[in-house]
Amino acid sequence: MDRLEEMIARTQPPGGVRVEYTRNRRVVISLRKRNEQIEFRVHEIFRCAPREVLEAIARTYFTRTRRDTRRRLNQTVRAYINANEGRIEEMATSARRRPLLYGYRGDVYDLRAIFDELNAEFFGGRLRATLTWSKQINRRKLGTWRGIPGQDGGVIRINRVFDDPSVPRFYIRQLVLHEMLHGVFSNERRNGRIIRHTRAFREFERSSPMYEAAKQWEENHLNTLYQKRIKQQRQRSRMRS
Ligand SMILES: [Zn+2]
Repeated sequence: MDRLEEMIARTQPPGGVRVEYTRNRRVVISLRKRNEQIEFRVHEIFRCAPREVLEAIARTYFTRTRRDTRRRLNQTVRAYINANEGRIEEMATSARRRPLLYGYRGDVYDLRAIFDELNAEFFGGRLRATLTWSKQINRRKLGTWRGIPGQDGGVIRINRVFDDPSVPRFYIRQLVLHEMLHGVFSNERRNGRIIRHTRAFREFERSSPMYEAAKQWEENHLNTLYQKRIKQQRQRSRMRS
């Protein structure tokens, strides 16, 4: 859970609340319900907002308050937004250079749920990341980690090829864990080359209980999965056109 989610959890909202960060210039806070789950979308500027601002947001949206209290809470949030107008603008204009997000919820797997699980199991819940499936199935990368300059955390993108019922959960877990490790271990430079998978990285990765099974599964099924999924994708785009 991140800081805002923690603050919201304290108000004990019925059902789950997921916080998603956006760079939307016009709508800096929005809330929508999907089944029992509340999706609370807030602008990136709130990631490192002071405690009182986060608390004001949580109370405004998730508790009943008296009118004068509400007005006071609103002022706190407003003041913070006004003070960050510049950053909101800057993030919007540089949005094209920023990673594109296509949502963490796939047809089969919810990447965010898997990330939260792993984060609690392996890292005491300390790691920060935005999760997204890739736009399309592609042959380039299974997954990627991209750090966000000037911020803690990063963006984990997982190839949409794996959002399929034939892919076992342990495999996705290992895949997400791999990308998370990029957020934990820094790269090393050796003879001018950048080593992203350092020895410490590999050791940690291999110590995971899913490691062997995931490797086996990949060897036995990855190619057929690609073939099947790429065919599906082609059929779907043909149907659309
Ligand atoms: Zn890697």
